[in-house]
Amino acid sequence: MPDATLDLPESTNHAVMSIDELKRTFSTGRTKTYKWRIEQLQALKRLLEEKSKDIAKALNQDLAKSESEAWLTEIGYSITDVDDNIKRLKSWMKPKKVGTPLVAWPGKSMIQSEPLGVALIIGAWNYPVQLVLTPLIAAIAAGNCAVIKPSELAPASSELLAKLIPLYLDNAAIRVQEGGKDETTELLAMPFDKYFYTGGEHVGRIVMTAAAKHLAPVTLELGGKSPCIVDGETNLDITVRRIVWGKWMNVGQTCVAPDYVLIEEKYLADFTQKLIAEIKKQYSKEPQSNKDYGRVINQRHCARLINYLEGLNIIHGGKHDVDERFIEPTVVVQPKLDDLIMQEEIFGPILPILTFKSKQSMIDFVRARPKPLACYAFTSNKEFESMVVEEISAGSICINDTNIFLVNHELPFGGVGTSGMGNYHGKSGFDTFSHQKAVMKRSFKFDAAIRYAPFSKLKLML
Ligand code: NAD
Repeated sequence: MPDATLDLPESTNHAVMSIDELKRTFSTGRTKTYKWRIEQLQALKRLLEEKSKDIAKALNQDLAKSESEAWLTEIGYSITDVDDNIKRLKSWMKPKKVGTPLVAWPGKSMIQSEPLGVALIIGAWNYPVQLVLTPLIAAIAAGNCAVIKPSELAPASSELLAKLIPLYLDNAAIRVQEGGKDETTELLAMPFDKYFYTGGEHVGRIVMTAAAKHLAPVTLELGGKSPCIVDGETNLDITVRRIVWGKWMNVGQTCVAPDYVLIEEKYLADFTQKLIAEIKKQYSKEPQSNKDYGRVINQRHCARLINYLEGLNIIHGGKHDVDERFIEPTVVVQPKLDDLIMQEEIFGPILPILTFKSKQSMIDFVRARPKPLACYAFTSNKEFESMVVEEISAGSICINDTNIFLVNHELPFGGVGTSGMGNYHGKSGFDTFSHQKAVMKRSFKFDAAIRYAPFSKLKLML
């Protein structure tokens, strides 16, 4: 996505906080205790439950998200995450015993997870609540102080979080900073102990440069074009149902949404006919008045998406209404590879379909491009499934479904190459906000003289 040029900041003018108090809080050791962590996680759960209606309303204001989608992908999703952290926190905090080699005997070794300090969490606008709260849950579980900076492009959600977080969480340890580019630039100049960023590649580089100045660890949750390979011999009815769900959820504004479909030529007609029927089934013939179908985040993004359609072969949809930030679920076939739609991450409700002569050529196509955040393959052919898993490098691979893999918190979530660096969710989130400290304890019971100088030939022979 051309994020640098399009996402000029909305007018924001927020005073930027100092992080001195958070640094002082961290140095007291208070946030390291199990008691503090669990209390904060429980308080965050209460916030999500008690204020779920307000959150859903803000999401509806920002993105016209339906109540069920708001629950499924933001509120309920974050509650499940916080529950999982509460349940497993004790075991994650326990030092992990590891073996000790003979030369260090008698001795014991272990890995002790310790918090990094004060973390900065910068979120994107497409899931404006979940994308700051789930990293915050991980940061708290790991015992850190944190500042969250929600996206200014989803102002209702940002404002609500800024109002609610101080009412529920420890204000000397957890803060919300509202604002856009200017405020984030000021924050990035501060010496955080961890930088966690979700958004586009361009700003990802800015964040990484800022983290380098402080020599602090950084996690970048970025995006890119996630391919969806369809082997026409599979169950096409379920395939199209799952693609429509994953693509048009949040109007295509999901970092892991299938960006484009690759299919063998001979199956194209059957696939597109089923796909279009399924779009109408899930979003009706009048998606503009359908409450389950949201809106593009702003008019600038709407104009960007409409511009993609210029000169393309549209086989379904294409209607739009910029004033209402509406674009119909749209399917295009055989765009040229140098068309903008195949050059940039779409991040909207348009699905291009490209055809190929063989399964291998579809894999080669994906491999010739930047490593995607997610790669999907629909197939009943075990051999092809293994080829996809083995040959394609991607943040995540999901066989026979789309975005659903995100519900499994046993799986680390993050990109590779230009789709990101580092990961989170479940235990990997806890690890991302922790330092794994190596601890070895030796006994005085036995002390081999051989390791100490002066060295003799005899010692070396032994
Ligand atoms: P965005 O415009 O909301 O920007 C993200 C954050 O960066 C915001 O908080 C914003 O204030 C800040 N920002 C913007 N310009 C800045 C600058 N010059 N300096 C410092 N900070 C700045 O979001 P976006 O970039 O449009 O997000 C869309 C991209 O994010 C897509 O590529 C999408 O795939 C990706 N994304 C990834 C994930 C993931 O989990 N991997 C999730 C959501 C979105």
